[in-house]
Amino acid sequence: MKYCHQCAALLELRVPEGDDKPRHCCKSCGSIFYQNPKNVVGTLPAYGEQVLLCKRAIQPRIGKWTLPAGYMENGESSLNGAIRETKEEAGANVIVAADSLYTLFNLPTINQVYMFFRAELADLDFAPGEESEEVALFHQHEIPWDNIAFPVVKSTLELYFLDFAAQSFPVRMFDVHHGEKRTITTRLISHSNPKA
Ligand SMILES: [Zn+2]
Repeated sequence: MKYCHQCAALLELRVPEGDDKPRHCCKSCGSIFYQNPKNVVGTLPAYGEQVLLCKRAIQPRIGKWTLPAGYMENGESSLNGAIRETKEEAGANVIVAADSLYTLFNLPTINQVYMFFRAELADLDFAPGEESEEVALFHQHEIPWDNIAFPVVKSTLELYFLDFAAQSFPVRMFDVHHGEKRTITTRLISHSNPKA
């Protein structure tokens, strides 16, 4: 961020009075611009024992497989954003249950929060959207584990098949840290009580 959105003057990075973090401040009009984490929301669309994945047609991780997900828009809920992304990227209509929230990942190193919801495909009428090259259903043994786009997606899928076998889907929250040499560590922070 370089110029003020209000008056187009140059911004400076400094700690405003009463704050403890550097912010982009306008010397001319006094506006302060706060930057906060972005929310990425998506679904895990299931059809019986199968899961729907999208092959990415865009960077980053072009050609890798992922769950339909994307940035939340202003004015929408996390769940509605996830349903919208599923329609946009996979052309799929989904049904979500009241207990659909499934995994939440905090990614403080890259200032993002990921949320995935469990969903059921309403029908088999799906097709790749603009950002997908291909959309397909996979049984557990067919999942391209070595070609999954993001660790948060891989973790969510791994847990899902374990939970599916047990027919119990607790909500789990993780912290994800990006270290040197592209190392990524995922740590479970909390989980809801599995259903009896
Ligand atoms: Zn200004």
